[in-house]
Amino acid sequence: MLTAARDELWTRAEALAYRLSADLGMPVRLAVTDNRSTMVSFRRGSSALQLRLHHMFLDAPEPVVRAVADYAGRGHRSAGSVLDDYIRGQQPRIRQMRRESDAELNPLGRCFDLQAMFHSVNATFFGSNIQARIGWGRMPPRRRRKSIRLGVYDHQTREIRIHPALDRPEVPAFFVEFIVFHEMLHQLFPSTGRGGRRVHHPRAFRERERTYPHYAAALRWERENLGVLLRG
Ligand SMILES: [Zn+2]
Repeated sequence: MLTAARDELWTRAEALAYRLSADLGMPVRLAVTDNRSTMVSFRRGSSALQLRLHHMFLDAPEPVVRAVADYAGRGHRSAGSVLDDYIRGQQPRIRQMRRESDAELNPLGRCFDLQAMFHSVNATFFGSNIQARIGWGRMPPRRRRKSIRLGVYDHQTREIRIHPALDRPEVPAFFVEFIVFHEMLHQLFPSTGRGGRRVHHPRAFRERERTYPHYAAALRWERENLGVLLRG
């Protein structure tokens, strides 16, 4: 995920927290994240500033660090545009880092070839217009689960990951295909709304999803076999 060594990162984070504290004259508790959607978030308390920053800010030049202090520490909303510009400028670098870390995205499972499946779903249902990479996700650590996320689509990297629990002979191909189809729909119908009211599956998404030929069968299979999938 990160190219810098962990302790080097820690040192840089400490240095940044120190600069911000000195600038603001109050303690700054800094958490460094790799969050894909929220680059800057903060809570101003009476005695300290709690700040969560994406790791791109560890290399930020002085004016950007000052803007972080103004924005999060002093409540100057106008400083937000400096942060927006910096975040936009960093996107190619962040994407590159993610490409490197995700290079191992592997579509070939024991039972299913996701790349082949993606191609045929793309040709059959999308006029081959969806552009994405696809692969099996990593097997999560064994623990008792109440739910399972069978697929995920990342808008920034255009990557689809399918849960490895589906790569088994007892899982029918039409079901895996349905999950692939569903994740591809996310590219076509991005989530709507903002903040807490985000709708991940807008109405148009749901309508199109129902046109999948084995839609009812897929939902039934999932309902009847969820227990098997949850056991991994
Ligand atoms: Zn979805």
